[in-house]
Amino acid sequence: MIFINPHGAPELACDHCGCRWVDRLKGKAYCYECGEEVSDEAIAEFQAAAVEYAAKHSPPAAS
Ligand SMILES: [Zn+2]
Repeated sequence: MIFINPHGAPELACDHCGCRWVDRLKGKAYCYECGEEVSDEAIAEFQAAAVEYAAKHSPPAAS
C-alpha cells in the first residue's frame, strides 16, 4: 500500500500491517514489522507515485 506523508510525498508501506518499516534489498521488499513480502504491485505503485510527486515538486527549469 502507499502511505502519503504529511509533506504529501508517497511512502511505501506494508500491505499486511500498514507499517512503513520496509526493508528493500535485492529487488525484494520485506516488512520489518510482520515479515511479509511487499508485493511487486505495491512497489510499482509506489514508484509511479514517487515519480508523479517528483514531477510536481521539481523546481522550475532555469531559463
Ligand atoms: Zn507488515
